[in-house]
Amino acid sequence: MDIVLATRNKKKVEEMQRILNGMDINILTPDDFPSCPEVEEDMDTFEGNAVKKALAITKCTNKIAVADDSGLEVYALNGAPGVMSARYAGEDANDVSNIGKLLNEMKNLPDEQRGARFVCCIAFAYPDTPPVPPLIKGGQGGVITFFGFAEGSIGREPRGRMGFGYDPVFYPSGYNMTFAEMSPEEKDALSHRGKALEEFKEYMKVHYPEYKEI
Ligand code: IMP
Repeated sequence: MDIVLATRNKKKVEEMQRILNGMDINILTPDDFPSCPEVEEDMDTFEGNAVKKALAITKCTNKIAVADDSGLEVYALNGAPGVMSARYAGEDANDVSNIGKLLNEMKNLPDEQRGARFVCCIAFAYPDTPPVPPLIKGGQGGVITFFGFAEGSIGREPRGRMGFGYDPVFYPSGYNMTFAEMSPEEKDALSHRGKALEEFKEYMKVHYPEYKEI
């Protein structure tokens, strides 16, 4: 079965491929469909953006599409950077400038006010052609959404070289190391994306008989 991952972020594709590894699916990306348009992430929720991306890609490819929208929410910053996580430091932001801005915004916050979580919404969209799966939780027409969360806190300086984004400053609850200091497998077991994709895998096992573990 073909599934198009509706993202051009290479690190996310790697993570999603690794987590979905072992399932009988052939993973494609928008690069395999050059005529598909770029989808602007202009909704104000993770779910809104994930649904928008998945629907656009399934419409353009006529294949099942899986989109992820994710980000970091810092409780003391009222949920910022939130859906703005990728562009927190501005339109030309990169991981270093985003982390720099975050640490600066949080510089006066004591340890007990540095709580944060990563959020991931996975949207699974399917084309109009049968077989159309039954809709369960969160169904919106041809889309189903799955959520995953990783609770933790923000450190005071970047540590580690693995992962991407805010990983070097994110300490998952109960660990004295950042996501960027963990192996990919350790991060997957704790991460918001790992948890949302596990839910997605459970859904696929139940509703798609041709989808199986190999
Ligand atoms: P988007 O989902 O492509 O809009 O980007 C989400 C942004 O949130 C990324 O560019 C990162 O800055 C951040 N983010 C999402 N997931 C992770 C993660 O697993 N680790 C670190 N940062 C993440």
